[in-house]
Amino acid sequence: MRKGMGKRDMLAHDNRMVDEVCPSIFLLRKTHGSNVYLIQDTELFLIDAGFPLDAKKISNAVSQFGTHVCMVATHYHLDHVGSMKMLSENFGWGIAAHEDDALVMEGKIPYEIFEMEPLKRLYYRLLAPLYKYEFVTVDSKLIDGDFMDVIEGLKVIHIPGHTEGSIALYSESRKILFSGDTLRCEKGILEGPPPKFNTNIEQAYKSIREKLLDLDFETLLPGHGVPILKNARKEVVRMLRES
Ligand SMILES: [Zn+2]
Ligand SMILES: [Zn+2]
Repeated sequence: MRKGMGKRDMLAHDNRMVDEVCPSIFLLRKTHGSNVYLIQDTELFLIDAGFPLDAKKISNAVSQFGTHVCMVATHYHLDHVGSMKMLSENFGWGIAAHEDDALVMEGKIPYEIFEMEPLKRLYYRLLAPLYKYEFVTVDSKLIDGDFMDVIEGLKVIHIPGHTEGSIALYSESRKILFSGDTLRCEKGILEGPPPKFNTNIEQAYKSIREKLLDLDFETLLPGHGVPILKNARKEVVRMLRES
């Protein structure tokens, strides 16, 4: 048993609902939408919250750690904020997001519609209730440089491009970066944002080069795919060189 691991952690591991990817940082298993990370500190922080149909899985997993949760959205897309309405209404969990993306999440400016292949569009239309975008109240509107008092300090890094208000979260002392969709690692392949679904893809890459590479990080916890636990910054440099 890892030093400092409590009974609650053991329970979570036994039920195989989460994996502890770094000390006190857990990745929920088998969510349908984005990766959902849970940080266990004096408070609980959830980084992103999957599709609406992930809500029950998230509440079950989190309930083993505690009840007071702050949910932080890396950006407004449905696969990252879909369950926030249900979780905030049913459990009173708070919501934080960058002030620009909060405007979309609160319904003050429209959700950007992207071109989609006809089959995919049909799929989403048929299953519309499962993928309905529900507006929420964003309790905490974040800006670049904001600091969250969790795992010795988590800094908000504004990285516009994938969406106007995309953010990364950075722990300087632990050299950990949560990147949302701006860096992904699906099937173990490190990539930038998905080519189709960006407000401005050139700006997203500029954010990677000018904001993220300015940070000293070893561990990358991406919005989709597998975490990179070592040499992550070097891997991002290599990815940019080869792309
Ligand atoms: Zn995503
Ligand atoms: Zn996205």
